[in-house]
Amino acid sequence: MLAPPIGLLGGTFDPIHLGHLRPALAARDALQLAELRLLPNRVPPHRASPFCTAEQRLEMVKLAAAEFNLVVDERELRRDQPSWTIDTLEELRRELPHTPVCFLMGMDSLLGLPTWRRWQALLDVAHLVVSVRPGWHIDEANAEVRALLQAHVTERREDLHERLAGCIWLAHNEPLPLSSTQVRALLAEGNDPRDLLPESVADYIRRQGLYVGKQHAHDIIRH
Ligand code: ATP
Repeated sequence: MLAPPIGLLGGTFDPIHLGHLRPALAARDALQLAELRLLPNRVPPHRASPFCTAEQRLEMVKLAAAEFNLVVDERELRRDQPSWTIDTLEELRRELPHTPVCFLMGMDSLLGLPTWRRWQALLDVAHLVVSVRPGWHIDEANAEVRALLQAHVTERREDLHERLAGCIWLAHNEPLPLSSTQVRALLAEGNDPRDLLPESVADYIRRQGLYVGKQHAHDIIRH
């Protein structure tokens, strides 16, 4: 007999916003997850570094977690090196041998999955729960992702309770056209994106004066 599944949402969370949280909370309800964990990533040195420090990103994740009754998993921030998702999921699988783990991601992440380290092994240790994200559509999936979907997709939510790993669940959440890049740009231009953030996170950003007037070169290029 398995324990009820938990959900895990990894991200840079620079900052955490409602586009992260609303689909994850909807999945918690729809799939009756016993727990929803936020997993802030350590950013690899070769990638554009996040605007905020790891401590500030963690603080915002903790505030959001307190507001929405979530759990914070700090393991990737505590490591010296950036972690690969597959390593973290394999570690969790060893820690929770009887608990299905649902790794939550947006459609952009699913479409980019074949660039992840040992991506085909992800479904050996976890389920994938994929949220709708405006601008990214499943029809654009390449042949590798299509094959993965064909082999693993399920519409039976019980499958995610009855198996430890190996299912892909496509969520029908409300699409939220929202990203951290957009939140940073709004703040840099002096706007208050309060409606896009948990209240406690918006207050923290304002108190600390984060992102204000300091548009990141990386964001200017992406815009
Ligand atoms: P950035 O704009 O800095 O790239 P981001 O908003 O895309 O950041 P991440 O921290 O990179 O946020 O995302 C973590 C996870 O949350 C990813 O799996 C991503 O697909 C998902 N996600 C982020 N925003 C949304 C959204 N609006 N709808 C659905 N999923 C989302």
